[in-house]
Amino acid sequence: MGNIILTGDRPTGKLHLGHYVGSLRSRLKLQEEGNYDEMYVFIADVQALTDHAKNPEIIKASLREVALDYLSIGLDPNKVTFFIQSMVPELSELTIYYMNLVTLARLERNPTVKSEIKQKNFNNDIPVGFLNYPISQAADITAFGATIVPVGDDQLPMIEQAREIVRSFNHLYGETLVEPKALVPENKMLGRLPGLDGKAKMSKTLGNCIYLSDSSEEVKRKVMSMYTDPNHIKVEDPGNTKDNPVFLYLEAFVKDEHFKKYWDEYNNLDELKAHYERGGVGDMKVKKFLYQVIEEELEPIRKRRAFWETRIDEVYKILEEGTKKARKRASKTLKDVKKAMQINYFE
Ligand code: ATP
Ligand code: MG
Repeated sequence: MGNIILTGDRPTGKLHLGHYVGSLRSRLKLQEEGNYDEMYVFIADVQALTDHAKNPEIIKASLREVALDYLSIGLDPNKVTFFIQSMVPELSELTIYYMNLVTLARLERNPTVKSEIKQKNFNNDIPVGFLNYPISQAADITAFGATIVPVGDDQLPMIEQAREIVRSFNHLYGETLVEPKALVPENKMLGRLPGLDGKAKMSKTLGNCIYLSDSSEEVKRKVMSMYTDPNHIKVEDPGNTKDNPVFLYLEAFVKDEHFKKYWDEYNNLDELKAHYERGGVGDMKVKKFLYQVIEEELEPIRKRRAFWETRIDEVYKILEEGTKKARKRASKTLKDVKKAMQINYFE
């Protein structure tokens, strides 16, 4: 015990299979294991605004989708506190104090921020808020005393930044904040699931995703048009499984029992891979199998989504209740922080 688990997602779109294998699935596992004192899952709308300031309507619509995604995958409001970042203003206050502990050069060196600046074509017009988001993330994490943060591997530099802030703060003002640890999937590929187009990362921004809320028909259409090994032209040709997203997705989702159920020519993925590499397995067959495997995962999620979609008021109630609770916890940290900094003048 003594574990506090926390993670969030940006409401810039719906959640996809990349989120699922990179972070959501670890959260579910942690929830089921129950080896924690508190678990927080939040919708990071303040962070989403750092690159979507001109499109708040996207954030509003996505917030509802992300909340539905959480409940659909089986995160349980009785075990998890859900909250909305902007509704906990204590987080912004903490951010302001932490900003004095980090240099501009340090922010500019953050490899994830660097690659996102490129991806978003900010060039020299980087919003201050965007560059600052790793600090705001440190506020989110430390406000709840989080010890474990289940994330994809693009988030490792953010957790490192948060740890540095905790160390500087504690060093300057006395032991106050807790150092968090990232929890990334053991299999490296799962920490960064590639896109349908074979690009390095499935990402909302790149539009190469299978969404958790996609219909069965959409999933089929997307899987059947996926990028595979471009040199595997004829069925007899030897194929590459290593950076072939179809096989990487199978690795993320397939269980031996799926072979029994849908493709009993093989006992497991290794056998299928070996055959594909030798030549003699057609892409269409593998894709059809992958579609069936993904459906095994998505079908129950769809069912739960249909349930919650007819109870939207209840969904917002859950967010509201969770936010209240989260605010209480964050206020306590803010109080401790101000006391440590000796700016608690009226106490
Ligand atoms: P955006 O393009 O708006 O940044 P995103 O798709 O990168 O969206 P985030 O909300 O930034 O999604 O990420 C939420 C969580 O999901 C983070 O922990 C991140 O590491 C993880 N994640 C996102 N994409 C992937 C992926 N393709 N594979 C594994 N984990 C991922
Ligand atoms: Mg991202």
